Amino acid sequence: MARLLDKVLIDPKVPYSLKTDGNLELVFYGVGSMFAERPLRQTGFLLCKGDTHIMVDAGRTAPEALVDATGVKFTDIQVMLPTHSHPDHVNAIGEWLTWYRYIGIPFLKRPRPITIIGETYMPILWNETLRGGVKYNERIEDGRKYLNFGDMTDFIIPKFKVFQPREVLEVDFGGIHLELFRTVHVPDSSGGWEDSFISYGLVVDDHLFISGDTRFDRGLLQMYERQSSAMFCDVQFYPAGVHAPLNDYRGLPGFVKEKTYFIHYSNDYHRHDIPEFGGWAKQGVRYIFG
Ligand SMILES: [Zn+2]
Repeated sequence: MARLLDKVLIDPKVPYSLKTDGNLELVFYGVGSMFAERPLRQTGFLLCKGDTHIMVDAGRTAPEALVDATGVKFTDIQVMLPTHSHPDHVNAIGEWLTWYRYIGIPFLKRPRPITIIGETYMPILWNETLRGGVKYNERIEDGRKYLNFGDMTDFIIPKFKVFQPREVLEVDFGGIHLELFRTVHVPDSSGGWEDSFISYGLVVDDHLFISGDTRFDRGLLQMYERQSSAMFCDVQFYPAGVHAPLNDYRGLPGFVKEKTYFIHYSNDYHRHDIPEFGGWAKQGVRYIFG
């Protein structure tokens, strides 16, 4: 069974290569909440394996956080996977698409960028978030003034795996197997994933669990806790709300707690002792699995 083999701190002066020797690597460029200040910055991460890389989420702080934590330039990212439409997860994506269209592809001969996104979420992200800033073409081509999502990026579209006990999508991309499961994030009154705004977490290669933004969801953890090598989980330090309270995690079985690492935390995290857990996920660390 796959396990967490090593944790190696990146020196951002020596940019992370976005390649591995074949092992799966997870690198957070940010580990904080939407309102976390430096150095945590907003949660987002890279998945790398062999020659494949995927950046999961790009909020307002992502371009600077990425280069500060890993030495990687935001425009070196070729593949993006947005989990949900909150600003701390998608606000930099329009900028990324625009760079490719007007600089990366025509002048630097870079291949088209790739967005990994389900069929249901695709029009929501385009129509409600990206289109307002990105649809205005710099020139009229084929009589068209306005651009659509497909003008900006190629797509990899995960397919439905199961609907119950919750919707799970899956896709194989570049040697990485992704499962995207729906989470229970907003509104705080939703009764389950069906009446929550669309939001995903991930299981990578059937063993690396990253919760995405979610309220505490015992049923979700139970779906994956036996097969997971490590579980990176959303946390907050107060009850209720739309994230998962630390105190709720304290009731988990020991074998789950010891492989649970927290993400999306606020700057006062050091006031909370978590010796029974794996720890706080750290920026710029290569979590190497094998
Ligand atoms: Zn969110």
